[in-house]
Amino acid sequence: MSQQLSQAAIIDGHVHLMSIRQAERLLEIRQCLGFGRMNLLSIVDPRRGNGNSTVLAAKALHPEAFYAFGGLDHAAVSNPANPVPLARQAQRLWQTGCDGIKMLETKPNTRRELNVPVDGPYYEEYFALVEEQKTPLLWHVADPEEFWDPRTTPWWAAKHNWGYGPSDVPKETLHAEVARVLDRHAGLKVIFAHFYFLSADIPRLVRFLLAYPNVSIDLALGVEMLLNLSKAPDQAREFFVQHQDRIVFGTDIADGLTVEHARIRTELIRRFIETDDTYAVPPDAEELLQTPGRIRGLALPGSVLKKIYADNFARTVGRNPRPLDRGRVIEECRRQASQASRLAGVPAEQTEAGQCIKALES
Ligand SMILES: [Zn+2]
Repeated sequence: MSQQLSQAAIIDGHVHLMSIRQAERLLEIRQCLGFGRMNLLSIVDPRRGNGNSTVLAAKALHPEAFYAFGGLDHAAVSNPANPVPLARQAQRLWQTGCDGIKMLETKPNTRRELNVPVDGPYYEEYFALVEEQKTPLLWHVADPEEFWDPRTTPWWAAKHNWGYGPSDVPKETLHAEVARVLDRHAGLKVIFAHFYFLSADIPRLVRFLLAYPNVSIDLALGVEMLLNLSKAPDQAREFFVQHQDRIVFGTDIADGLTVEHARIRTELIRRFIETDDTYAVPPDAEELLQTPGRIRGLALPGSVLKKIYADNFARTVGRNPRPLDRGRVIEECRRQASQASRLAGVPAEQTEAGQCIKALES
C-alpha cells in the first residue's frame, strides 16, 4: 500500500448502515481498515420511507466518524393524503445537518415500485432547490448492462431481484432522463455511484464527464467495474490520470458484513488502484462479489491516489461533516417512528427510528 498516503486520511464515500444497533460494527470496520471517515447513505424504500433516522443518529453519536446522506420519502406517491413535497424534504434534511442526499430511485427495481421518471414534474422543484442549496447528491443510476439479460445476469443479482426484463425501464432510458436533469440544472453537484455503470464504455464516460463538469463518479463495487477496466488497463490508467479530480473512493460496505468481508471488499479496490498486480476475487469474498475473471491493477501515482481517497470527496461534500441540529434530528426520528409505527402496526418505540431516539437519549 502507498507509503505517501496517511491511512487516517481516507474517506470511504459509500457506506450503508441499516440499523443503529450495528453502528459499532461499522466503527470496528473503520478502525480495522484505518479509514478516517465513512459516509453513511440512507436507502430509500418507496413503501416504507427511508433510513434517515439511522444515519442521522449515527452521525450525532459519532461525529468524528461519520458523514450522513439522507434519502427522500415517497409516501406521497402511494399515500397522497399526506404528501410532503420533495423540495421541502430536501430543505429539512439540509437544515438538520445532512451532508447530502442519496438517490436510489433510478435503480431499476426501485423504479419498478416507484414508477415516476426523474426528469418529470414530480422531481422538478426538488432538483432546482438542491442545485440552489448546493446539496451534494450521491446517485445510483441504472445497473450493469448484463442485468437486463437473463443469460448474463449473475446468480447473486437474480437472487436479489436485480434481473430485469422487457417490462422494466431500459438502462438507456435512465441515462437519458438523468442527462435531461443535468442539462436543466448544470450546477448540481453529483457523485454517480459505481462509475455510473459505464465502466464497459470508457469513451462514453469521458464524454459524460466533459459534458457535465460538476459531476464525479465513485469506485464502489460492482466487481464488473474492475473486470471491465482490466480488459484495457492502459486505457483505464490513462482515464484515471486524466480525470483524477472526478473519481471518489467508496466501498459499498454495509453493516451486515463481517470485518473480514469488509476487508476483502476494500482490498479488491485498493489493490486495483495502488498496485499493478493481476488477481481474482478470492473465494472467501462475500457472495455479491463472486464474478470470475482477472483484475489487473493500475499502479496509480501517490498524488492521484490522494485525490481519489480524500480530496475529491472533501471538495464536493466538505473537509469535515456539517454540524447537526440535534433537535431537528430527534424531530426527524419522531416523524419516522410514527409513520413506521402506522405502516407496520407496531409501537413507535419498537421501530428503527424509535430505537434511534432511545440511543440518542441514553
Ligand atoms: Zn450502495
